[in-house]
Amino acid sequence: MLAVYQLPVPTPYAVGPVNVYLIKNDPVTLIDVGPGTAKAGEVLKDMLSSLGVGIKEVKRIIITHAHPDHCGLAADIAGDSNATVFIHRLEEKKLRGSHDYFKERLPFVLEAGIPAEVLTEMAGERAKLPPPGLRGAVNVEILADETLVFDGGELMVMHLPGHSPGHVCLYDPERKYFFSGDFLLPHITPNPVLEPDPEKPGKRLPTLKQYLGGLDRVEALDITMVCPGHGGVFSDYKGVIEAGRRHHRFQFDRIMEKLRGRELSTFQLSREIYPNLKGWEVFLGLSEVQAHLDLLTEWGKTYCFKKQGVVYYTNP
Ligand SMILES: [Zn+2]
Ligand SMILES: [Zn+2]
Repeated sequence: MLAVYQLPVPTPYAVGPVNVYLIKNDPVTLIDVGPGTAKAGEVLKDMLSSLGVGIKEVKRIIITHAHPDHCGLAADIAGDSNATVFIHRLEEKKLRGSHDYFKERLPFVLEAGIPAEVLTEMAGERAKLPPPGLRGAVNVEILADETLVFDGGELMVMHLPGHSPGHVCLYDPERKYFFSGDFLLPHITPNPVLEPDPEKPGKRLPTLKQYLGGLDRVEALDITMVCPGHGGVFSDYKGVIEAGRRHHRFQFDRIMEKLRGRELSTFQLSREIYPNLKGWEVFLGLSEVQAHLDLLTEWGKTYCFKKQGVVYYTNP
């Protein structure tokens, strides 16, 4: 049986602490590591040592997805421990920091109709936060849908995109624990973060469609406990999945209502729905609205047209 410990680590982000999971069976494994701040590193190392685990004993670091709150410390922990970092191929670029995250998303943000001053504020705030990034020589292995074996247990890797393109969750078939990363959270629905499609230049990934498809797959599992990336563990996964679906139905209805007889850009719509967002949150608000618009448009419920570089949506 796998011996699992939840280690909440502080983050400088609005989301609050992030959960690292320690699996003490050989090879000693961490699921996520926390943000790249000195404070998080100290807290994590203290908690590990209070559980009798020295940093050098960590052999595997599994990253659910390369958002900085989950993976920022990967380079430090891998450097100190010599552990191998496991990550899905679609997250590796973000983890290594070997690309310009913002520039890749810029064409989509511009066609959403964002005013120049809001764009400047949004980009400026992002630059202040510690980015993910593997520095130095770190062993990285690419995760596929596979089973990771431990002494006395195993974890099945499930690729569940939507919040992030290479997001993975892990399922322990013996205890029926589900390590959900940000895919399933106790009180909030994860943001369908706007992502360029790596296979189709100029197109967005259908993030919300991917996510809703993933919920069906997770609902079909037999789970006794969800171990989320934020917040406490919970067992009512079917209730949380249903609440997620309800949230998205509500958003579809709300957007349809706002577009009735009007023509609005994604930015204008997101301002009406989230009037108080500031800085980087503006991008998350845009992502949420854009993901719903993309699905509504695919279903033929809304239409869009481009005028002077900005895409407008309407519900005739
Ligand atoms: Zn995330
Ligand atoms: Zn997160």
